[in-house]
Amino acid sequence: MSEDTKSLGCDNADAHSGRPDGATAPEGVTMSRRRFLEGLGAAAGLTAAGIVPALLTATPKAAVAEETGEAQTESAIASVIEEDQAVNYPGKPVWYADPPGDQKWAMVIDVKACIGCRRCVYACVEENNIGRNSGFTYIQVLEMEAGKIDIESAELHYDEGGRPDKWYFPIQCMHCAKPTCVYGCPVIATWKEPDGIVVIDYDKCIACRNCMVTCPYDARHFNWVEPEVPEDERNPDVPVEEKAGTVEKCTFCIQRTRNGKTTACTEACPVGARKFGDLNDPESEVAQLLKTRRVWRLKEETGNEPMIWYVG
Ligand code: SF4
Ligand code: SF4
Repeated sequence: MSEDTKSLGCDNADAHSGRPDGATAPEGVTMSRRRFLEGLGAAAGLTAAGIVPALLTATPKAAVAEETGEAQTESAIASVIEEDQAVNYPGKPVWYADPPGDQKWAMVIDVKACIGCRRCVYACVEENNIGRNSGFTYIQVLEMEAGKIDIESAELHYDEGGRPDKWYFPIQCMHCAKPTCVYGCPVIATWKEPDGIVVIDYDKCIACRNCMVTCPYDARHFNWVEPEVPEDERNPDVPVEEKAGTVEKCTFCIQRTRNGKTTACTEACPVGARKFGDLNDPESEVAQLLKTRRVWRLKEETGNEPMIWYVG
């Protein structure tokens, strides 16, 4: 791979149930719920106590805005956009994507709409050439008791979604405005692009896995084996073998989104629970949602400023 090769890149639930016809997912998913939960709470000595209750926190400004009618969400969005600058950007293009434009990419996920079908997971696996033998997926969907927020007892390996007595909570790389993963990399093999996408250079990655430790969302995954993707299922726009022995994660489908498409997960969701778009466009669906709905972010107390918001 060329010197300019740039690549990118959360572990998932049982990859067998709820899978649509023809969809594929990695085998041998190995992350236990314990490790997953530890990962969520492990970053940077975040919350020494009460980790789980602190996972879900409403965005104060948005909540205040809804209750008072004040236009505080406008300034909240502006502040995130302003703060969301490139980090350690080395100036080399991502080889399989167009150069960044002036967008500020973000996602809003409606947890009330989500039925836990995992179609987003399967679409992501196929789009991003995730090794079928790798034992992880970029997106994970957690199942919890309806009306309760209890991450500790959340089920990652549930059989089928759509249960009325449950709710479903998809998570993945948050493309943080202040990405602690980037700060953890000793060789600048990962950075934040000007349009907000956090990328990884597979050629530069030295497999130290520091970024996995400094990510509070457990969103990065290490390829212990060379990823195996059947020839007839390969996406030619995304690397495969180059990812062996490196860390990967969600890329907001950079190979699609910089070419005028939405993310594969957004496209695959049968209930429209995922919205992806440009916060720099005030008319975009994500910008409108942040202005008009009560939204919240995962582990807001970390200060990472995730670019994925939840609603519902
Ligand atoms: Fe980095 Fe944030 Fe993504 Fe973790 S969730 S890999 S800290 S950008
Ligand atoms: Fe299914 Fe959409 Fe929920 Fe993903 S986000 S599990 S595709 S309903």
